[in-house]
Amino acid sequence: MLDIIMDILFPQNVCCICREPGRFGSRHPWCEHCQGEMNIMQSSLPVCTHCGKYLETGAGLCKDCQQMPPQFNIARAVGPYEEPYRIAVKVLKFLGRKYLAQKMGEMMVEVLKNEPDFWPIDIIIPVPISPGNLKQRGFNQTELLAAQISRKLRIPMDINTLTRIKETPSQRELTKEEREKNLLCAFEIKEKRKIYRKNILLVDDVYTTGSTIRECTRVLLEAGGNRVSVITWATGKGF
Ligand SMILES: [Zn+2]
Ligand SMILES: [Zn+2]
Repeated sequence: MLDIIMDILFPQNVCCICREPGRFGSRHPWCEHCQGEMNIMQSSLPVCTHCGKYLETGAGLCKDCQQMPPQFNIARAVGPYEEPYRIAVKVLKFLGRKYLAQKMGEMMVEVLKNEPDFWPIDIIIPVPISPGNLKQRGFNQTELLAAQISRKLRIPMDINTLTRIKETPSQRELTKEEREKNLLCAFEIKEKRKIYRKNILLVDDVYTTGSTIRECTRVLLEAGGNRVSVITWATGKGF
């Protein structure tokens, strides 16, 4: 309801991705051309069967999954972390256009519905952002996406059980090993009974190295979760 009011009060007169003029809002935040491009990218690239990273050649497992298989059951994204997917997440995250989460969540639900390995799902948990980022941005974009997925699938979302307890410095400058060390003990489970024997859907905006997702999965399974599967808006490339 609030979305409709917001659309009326603040209509968007350009596509949030390519800036093409038109009338846009929470149901159609971008133009048909951009949507078409997203659809083509979605079906044209092979992915790692386990973590969902986009592979240059052929299907199968990416190098990371071959060397150290992730503990999660399956991970998939709507599309590769390239334009226009990359722009969409940046507009949501950095420009604070929260209404984008509606369409993005809808497209994530489509991926879930088309992949039997995700099911059953008992509970939806967004990857928490650091308290510093939350304070700076005012919202957790991943929680907005998870809320949309929860609403559409009618499966409860839990934002209090998996928490980020350690302020981690920017991951970008670190090597893979440093990154994993940096994340160790960054997450904590508040009430184990909430996830005990549950089939958990973990939600994140972008899957890049997978270190964060791997660490969250480890913590959730150690606390008694039955199974973890992962959905993200976009995923990077693997080898
Ligand atoms: Zn466009
Ligand atoms: Zn993989």
